[in-house]
Amino acid sequence: MSEVDLCCLLDTYLATYSYCGGYEPTQEDIKILKFILSAYNSSEMSTFLHLSRWTRHMTSFPAEVCRAFPPHALNVPTTNRDIVNKILTSISTANINCTSVKSYSNAVKQSSFQKNEREKPTYTVINNPPVDLSEKGKKAPKKKVEKEKSTVSELKPWPSYIQDRLVLWDKLKAEYDARIASKTPEDITITLPDGKDIPAESWRTTPYDIARGISKGLAENSVISKVDGVLWDLDRPLEKSCKLQLLKFDDEEAQQVFWHSTAHILGEAMERVYGGCLCYGPPIDSGFYYDMFLPNSQVSNLDFPVLEGLMKTIVKEKQPFERLEMTKEDLLEMFKYNEFKVRILKEKVNTPTTTVYRCGPLIDLCRGPHVRDTGKIKALKVTKNSATYWEGKADAESLQRVYGISFPDPKQMKEWEKFQEEAAKRDHRKLGREQELFFFHELSPGSCFFQPKGAHIYNSLVEFIREEYRKRGFQEVVSPNVYNSKLWKTSGHWAHYAENMFSFEVEKEQFALKPMNCPGHCLIFDHRPRSWKELPWRVADFGVLHRNELSGALTGLTRVRRFQQDDAHIFCMPDQIKSEISACLDFMRHVYGIFGFTFQLKLSTRPEKYLGELEVWNNAEKALADSLNEFGQPWSENPGDGAFYGPKIDITIMDALRRSHQCATIQLDFQLPVRFDLNYIGVDGEKKRPVMIHRAILGSVERMIAVLTESYAGKWPFWLSPRQAMIIPVAGPFNEYATKVKQQLFEAGFMSDVDTDDSDTMNKKIRNAQLAQYNFIMVVGEKELNGNTVNVRTRDNQVHGEFSVDDVILKFKKLAKTRTLKSEDEF
Ligand SMILES: [Zn+2]
Ligand SMILES: [Zn+2]
Repeated sequence: MSEVDLCCLLDTYLATYSYCGGYEPTQEDIKILKFILSAYNSSEMSTFLHLSRWTRHMTSFPAEVCRAFPPHALNVPTTNRDIVNKILTSISTANINCTSVKSYSNAVKQSSFQKNEREKPTYTVINNPPVDLSEKGKKAPKKKVEKEKSTVSELKPWPSYIQDRLVLWDKLKAEYDARIASKTPEDITITLPDGKDIPAESWRTTPYDIARGISKGLAENSVISKVDGVLWDLDRPLEKSCKLQLLKFDDEEAQQVFWHSTAHILGEAMERVYGGCLCYGPPIDSGFYYDMFLPNSQVSNLDFPVLEGLMKTIVKEKQPFERLEMTKEDLLEMFKYNEFKVRILKEKVNTPTTTVYRCGPLIDLCRGPHVRDTGKIKALKVTKNSATYWEGKADAESLQRVYGISFPDPKQMKEWEKFQEEAAKRDHRKLGREQELFFFHELSPGSCFFQPKGAHIYNSLVEFIREEYRKRGFQEVVSPNVYNSKLWKTSGHWAHYAENMFSFEVEKEQFALKPMNCPGHCLIFDHRPRSWKELPWRVADFGVLHRNELSGALTGLTRVRRFQQDDAHIFCMPDQIKSEISACLDFMRHVYGIFGFTFQLKLSTRPEKYLGELEVWNNAEKALADSLNEFGQPWSENPGDGAFYGPKIDITIMDALRRSHQCATIQLDFQLPVRFDLNYIGVDGEKKRPVMIHRAILGSVERMIAVLTESYAGKWPFWLSPRQAMIIPVAGPFNEYATKVKQQLFEAGFMSDVDTDDSDTMNKKIRNAQLAQYNFIMVVGEKELNGNTVNVRTRDNQVHGEFSVDDVILKFKKLAKTRTLKSEDEF
């Protein structure tokens, strides 16, 4: 059996079974794992989704747990037993050539990732050294790490393509500079944001010159400029009279330029260390990455200090970012050594010329712009690495990705590091485990198990929205999970979304699990003739949705395969759009207010390629803008960013750590009613087409729980809390009364527990309950028993004193009803 055959066989097998030994890990898994780890590196393995998932999981077991695995599985069907035996035989006879499975990667067909992801999903490389799998566990893995050192250093000499590029650059740059110098400068006027006009010379004056003329501080602190609304290098001469803005690092666009520039520094370091082919190096929400094609090696986290060291040298050299416009022909010559840049040139560049930027020896195909020179980066850090695919397509080449972060001030790096620590403490996966809220299991990747305490939070959120539905004129429906593919063909999902759907054959017809509720709701609307008198018709559904995310892309509750939404669709007449949107915004403000979130609003308008009539679009956009204006909160516009089927309002919430999340959706849809041929009878008795509004406020309940867990850091407000009251008897004789109180509160609908563990002191129990984040702790003793009362204190040790149990229930009911965030104070 060849190496590739073995991987294929294992991968196929592991698609059905969690382990080689079937449903539980065995010594056979260990045997095969050892072989795999010695034979392949993780980037090669990332081609095999199930195999890499299994490897990641297997290496997470501590050595002593591994030793306790049974020798082999007991309950595996014979045919599968045969496969495992075949693999084991191959390994023991070692007739496998352990070099590389890379050549195979092109042949592997896997569905590609969602295309609208800004940051393509990656497979995290096992950076932690694998657990000690030697039978006796003699070597402690930790010591091994300390001894391990990076095997890389700066290449001497540098790869030859660096020199080749520079030769071509020198020639073309001289020509380009001469061309610019030959332009006759003319007097132009630069208008600053405050309206002030500054005289300048075309093809000579740069934004930096203007900044310098205002103040040295401004010139030094400006990251990038904007000329007539377009980002522009500070050192690029201005070409005509224009409006000029100077952006500092606190501006989001400037941050992106800053991080993008640092990506070039990382790219330069990667070329000088690994010598591979650079691919894409974009900024991301927080930092940047650079992808490199390294056919015969991979990046290790042990290399980070080497990369960082070289990057810091590059920063010290203050290498200027120089811009050059080149013809496509010259570019193809310059990048002929790099197949990936050639692909970008051939597939993405449709203009006769485009730009490259140089810093030091790196010349990169890039539209820019950048900071003035590498010296602007005062603090930087390489943060992590992973393996990914070219353009995120699993059937393309496997690439090495290195991530980093940088700032113009070392103080900002310190703050960022502190923030990372805080975020790690609040990680919902960690808190979910500690608070016994939810967990994931290998047997259903991406589908969460909510334990009783987690289910309480889940249901409380759903109940909250349900209560609002009653007040706001929404009606709930229950609709199917499985539909014939004909439905998805009508809705258009089959053409664009099929690879993200779980589909299967039933009685020779193709069916699929629903990834969204909308098409089902169209069927309900269309079930009988509708009159204008019924509109707006608001229909809500908490139905379970499934999306087939690749297992490698799943992360906790933020990216799952199974989820529910507080999904609703409003079918309305065009002239009802404004009032419906206003009602949606009001609904949203109410819900986010309860959570304690602030939010930002953006209106995304008609894209270049749109479906439907221009007039309908214009009217709808005006209606959305009017409702936003009436709403009274500032909003901005994302011109051209709407979906092809309708404009939308993008809502970004800010959590307690001031991180932003997109949860809510308000999306207009002119197309689905067309595809389903939906009609209502208008006032004039004629058939009319309704407009559909998709809206959700929580978004996915799963994802909202992740956001809330991290935002509250596990300190749940009373109404959501899975631990509302802990009853603590002062001593053993009061256990019975304590249990009775617990039961009374429980029957009244509250999440109450009792601590009757006589081995702990009362103070210890109070402390434990506080650490477990019980909102209220009720101590009971002789006095309380006689008066049918409890002594109330909070998790923050605020003592409220003695109350009758009935009083407590009344107060609890009020706190739950108002959903206050300050229940401990308001008790
Ligand atoms: Zn660039
Ligand atoms: Zn929808």
